[in-house]
Amino acid sequence: MSVLDCLPDMSVPTPTPEDLLKQNRQLRRQVVDLTAAVGRLKETSDLYRIVADTAADAILCVDEQGEIIYANPSSKTLLGYSPASLIGKSLFDLIGEEHRHIPRRAVQSFLSTGEEPDNWSGMELNVISSDGSLIPVDVSFGEVRGEDGHYRFSGYLRDLRPRKKLEEQARERLSALAHANRLKSVGELASGLAHELNQPLSAICLYADLALTQARELTEETDPLLDGLETIVTQAQRAAQIISLLRELIRKNEPRRQPIDLNAAVQAVLHLLKSELETRRIQLTVRLADEQPQIDADRTQVEQIVLNLVQNAMDAMEDVLPAQRRIEIMSQATTDMVELHVVDSGCGLPEGGEQQVFENFFTTKAQGIGIGLGICRSIAEVHRGRILAENATPQGARFILQLPRHQDESGESV
Ligand code: ADP
Repeated sequence: MSVLDCLPDMSVPTPTPEDLLKQNRQLRRQVVDLTAAVGRLKETSDLYRIVADTAADAILCVDEQGEIIYANPSSKTLLGYSPASLIGKSLFDLIGEEHRHIPRRAVQSFLSTGEEPDNWSGMELNVISSDGSLIPVDVSFGEVRGEDGHYRFSGYLRDLRPRKKLEEQARERLSALAHANRLKSVGELASGLAHELNQPLSAICLYADLALTQARELTEETDPLLDGLETIVTQAQRAAQIISLLRELIRKNEPRRQPIDLNAAVQAVLHLLKSELETRRIQLTVRLADEQPQIDADRTQVEQIVLNLVQNAMDAMEDVLPAQRRIEIMSQATTDMVELHVVDSGCGLPEGGEQQVFENFFTTKAQGIGIGLGICRSIAEVHRGRILAENATPQGARFILQLPRHQDESGESV
């Protein structure tokens, strides 16, 4: 360096003190403006961060290679990874293998054309959570170009499980309704059959009875023919009774309220289920109130409740060893109510099932419809009564039907 280099440049005029003051004022104004702009920028960025941090959807920001540079707190809820541990991971590695090519192609297509592909704001993909399970999500992308000319992408991942669950429930409901419809047709068919069978069965009863009377006159009392004819008569009568009860149950009568004996309704249903109980090797204990309390009710509807409760009790014992299959039916009267308990030694109510079992279309059976108990509850309520479910000890379930006692003219319970 020469000495000349150290001398002031004489071609540039030396600023006067006024010029310096002016420059100083301008610089101060610029500093104030810049500070305000930085403040506004910080405010906006804080606002965006709050929005991202409190969003219910998972938000991941990635660079052009798909490397995660930001993850909001909801990412943990969805994916099971903490936001910090997601930084640096590849977004594409979090997508289920069968779908991985979809977002990869979309980002590549955007980078090469500069245009958002059709599926940019709606791709149904599976993401892999930290425990390895696949979660269905709807992903939509957004993009911003940085100062360096490179893009950053934001991906909004919406959990589709709640929507899928609702869709599944709607499908099940529909299929349950279709099943209920089919059952209705079967019911109508059964009604026709019961009607058709009634006449030949009555004829069989009548002629078997006649044949028995004549055979008694014509043969020895020890003749095995008599035993055979007696069996025909009893079995034909039993079949006729079953058919007539079936017709009663199917008939679409307007509910007819009258004083009825609850014990008698129980016995009629048990008669219908006798052979079913035997086939399933279920031990039945019946303890009915001695005083035969009366209730004001439609007999068929009450029988429908009892039938459903006992059938459910039988179903609940499918996985129980035959020696431990027990159903206990008990009736008892309080001052103004009559109670019927149906207790079984089956699988017990499903978790939290005390209320749920009465909801329409709730079923745990492969072939179930889930409307039986809902109907029972409506019938009980129409009769100003109620029906409750609880777990029994040591195992099984207990259903309690409570109906008001019939009152005579003086208002006394009968
Ligand atoms: P469905 O018999 O078609 O399932 P219900 O309304 O009669 O319809 O019963 C609903 C559900 O309640 C059953 O699927 C079962 O999970 C439960 N449930 C009913 N009765 C019993 C019982 N005695 N023991 C255990 N669970 C029962």
